[in-house]
Amino acid sequence: MPRRTKIVATLGPATDDPRALDELIQAGVDVCRINFSHGSAGEHKARAETVRNRARACGRQVGIIADLQGPKIRIGAFRDGSVELSEGAMFSLDANMDIEAGHETAVGILYKALPGDVARGDTLLLDDGAIVLWVDDVDEAEIRCRVVVGGVLSDKKGINKQGGGLSAAALTEKDMQDIKTAADLEADYLALSFPRNAKDVNMARDLFYKAGGHGGLIAKIERAEALTNIEEIIEASDVIMIARGDLGVEIGDPELPGVQKKLVARARKMNRVVITATQMMQSMIENHTPTRAEVMDVANAVLDGTDAVMLSAETSVGKHPAKVVASMGKICLGAEKQREAMISTHRTGTTFDYIDEAIAMATMYTANHLGVTAIISLTESGSTPLWMSRISSGIPIYAMTSSVKTRRRVTLYRGVYPVSFKPDFSDHAIVNKEAVDDLVRRGAVRDGDLVIITKGDLAGTAGGTNTMKVVKVGGLHTPEYCKIDP
Ligand code: PGA
Ligand code: MN
Repeated sequence: MPRRTKIVATLGPATDDPRALDELIQAGVDVCRINFSHGSAGEHKARAETVRNRARACGRQVGIIADLQGPKIRIGAFRDGSVELSEGAMFSLDANMDIEAGHETAVGILYKALPGDVARGDTLLLDDGAIVLWVDDVDEAEIRCRVVVGGVLSDKKGINKQGGGLSAAALTEKDMQDIKTAADLEADYLALSFPRNAKDVNMARDLFYKAGGHGGLIAKIERAEALTNIEEIIEASDVIMIARGDLGVEIGDPELPGVQKKLVARARKMNRVVITATQMMQSMIENHTPTRAEVMDVANAVLDGTDAVMLSAETSVGKHPAKVVASMGKICLGAEKQREAMISTHRTGTTFDYIDEAIAMATMYTANHLGVTAIISLTESGSTPLWMSRISSGIPIYAMTSSVKTRRRVTLYRGVYPVSFKPDFSDHAIVNKEAVDDLVRRGAVRDGDLVIITKGDLAGTAGGTNTMKVVKVGGLHTPEYCKIDP
């Protein structure tokens, strides 16, 4: 059985060597994330091109996510690179201070409006929560804090406010430039950092499409406010990412497991795709094997129903990028064998808005109850396999399409596998046979297996799926075979 849960790997120095990238792709990466927080437009484009070239050489389809930096609020730099903060000491964040001149008692801030967003009594978390500051006093420019949890603080570390409430807009000047780069490199997905509401998502989508981009929009859920507006954010996006790093800092780590489960369920229910991200295999940045806790974390995300699990530093700067992908893949497979990963409550209480959606649901109901070996969706836009993959199942869904954009997009969908397919659509029986033969050649099905094919009368038209057909492999060229063996 092929792995259903998709693996997103972040690119970085550790994957820049073409051989390292080949290993990563061969280890089973489905989607590569280019993190726009680091590197130039030229570097991003070169990375995207290398991924596509190497994927082609390896005979794989690999999607690309362009991930915008967003308004991550950061401190400036220190004169000596870092300072040691001790518990109980006073330390200021100062908008008027030179951005390079940080020292033991104060540091500059890049986001000048920060003092307006905080008040006495607030808690600020620096460096993903490693340093905790309590706000004692604020004026127009300076936030005077008492150190609650000290430690070494180095240049440009991020600042979060516990409980959320920082006002920075989701798109910075840099992001707007970067959106053009993302469109130029034909990103399959644009990931938006720190959106607060649907308006933020829509604005990014507009800019992306105006710049000639075509990919899906990923809303990274990493602010407390995003949870308040979660319904409209999911509605406005194609994919959500549970960005546990920043989100955990804002809402507190103990809230994360519950939020993760709710978000996965919500996204699937609303026919959206979901990525679970951050620190999933963190110890493998150094080590050859994951901890048991990491094994459990990845497996639990799979059991929650996530489409994809994501690697960040594990692949971008880690010591064993390919090994971590292979290891994560095995954990996913192990979890997918569990019954709860395959059963579905089948949305019995809902009505459908589209004909192709109804066909997709009928297919999954039939597939899960009849026991078919594979599902073939002859698709143009990829929406039928998206709907299918919202229903839990253990049956692979092959998205067969001549559209390379669609093939790349479905790399993120759980249980969906892209197949390049360009038949002569004038004869339906021949199309069926060619599609099934393709799966036979891949070893995915063999004689006697049942397969479901969905397609439209008007082949090559988006949204045209109106047919579901059950066929038996090997029986296609004889009169239509529909008897099931006992
Ligand atoms: P980042 O987003 O890696 O871009 O910070 C993910 C997260 O915050 O978890
Ligand atoms: Mn983040």
